[in-house]
Amino acid sequence: MSSTGTLSDLGRALCIITGASRGLGRAMARHLSELVKPGSAFVLAARSGDELRAAAAEVTEAAAGRGGLSVQCVPVDLSHSDGVKELMEAVRTSFTEDMDHVLLVNNAASLGDVSRYMRSFTNMAEVDSYLSFNVSSALCLTASVLEAFPRRPGLRRTVVNVSSLCSVKPYSSWVLYCTGKAAREMMFRVLAEEEPDVRVLNYAPGPLDTDMYQLARSRTADPAVKKNFSERFTQGQVLTCDESCTKMMKVLLEDKYVSGSHVDFYDV
Ligand code: NAP
Repeated sequence: MSSTGTLSDLGRALCIITGASRGLGRAMARHLSELVKPGSAFVLAARSGDELRAAAAEVTEAAAGRGGLSVQCVPVDLSHSDGVKELMEAVRTSFTEDMDHVLLVNNAASLGDVSRYMRSFTNMAEVDSYLSFNVSSALCLTASVLEAFPRRPGLRRTVVNVSSLCSVKPYSSWVLYCTGKAAREMMFRVLAEEEPDVRVLNYAPGPLDTDMYQLARSRTADPAVKKNFSERFTQGQVLTCDESCTKMMKVLLEDKYVSGSHVDFYDV
């Protein structure tokens, strides 16, 4: 730790990152691999095995020359409980007793169908399916990780929820996404109340140049919201994933956030 109280690294960590095959999750895996000690392990989850393997190669390369680090790719669909179970099997096998930090990043999410307004969501199965992936899987995965690695002296536990401005601000034609992000954020606020030893971060990464942003600016039904997303993009106001990750790493290392609070890229 430095004289300013900032941590110099994230320890010998088990890092579990969902949605690590592309976009922000893939960049976070790279950035985190530069901050952990040798002997750390990464578990990367998403559906696409090929993209996960490419992400794993980047992690290995980013950590090269700084001692050993293991990476396990877990191609799973987290919209089903079997996916969470399969991921947990990999998580358990990646942990070694000399690790002093378990860090879970709940990053995977989907935008949902933004081409329609709320009045058209009459099909409960469609809504359930969205919430199953975007809310239930994050809750059950987090609970499973905390159950597998209970509180004990010498073990830090950190849970990051990749949040959004949409957790607090409604956007017309984005009913699924806003609902999911609001529910997820409250879930992790409750966790922070219940488990004071767990460091819980709700990080809103800002607008990012990813597949999700491309969907947002091409499919949004509400003309004003769509125009806003398109203009931000054409005016160069969309961030790279690396820019946002750099901020998030700073927040993690400074370790000064109030557990459970909402930390936005633009507020740091
Ligand atoms: P993205 O490019 O769409 O990537 C989403 C990731 O989630 C991918 O790795 C995807 O991999 C994975 N995923 C999707 N469905 C899955 C499923 N059923 N099971 C397992 N993994 C699944 O999104 P992003 O822009 O990087 O977003 C990352 C996070 O930032 C999300 O939580 C998002 O809500 C948040 N965020 C994004 C923005 C933005 O402007 N982009 C702004 C604020 C917040 P596979 O397809 O291989 O499964």
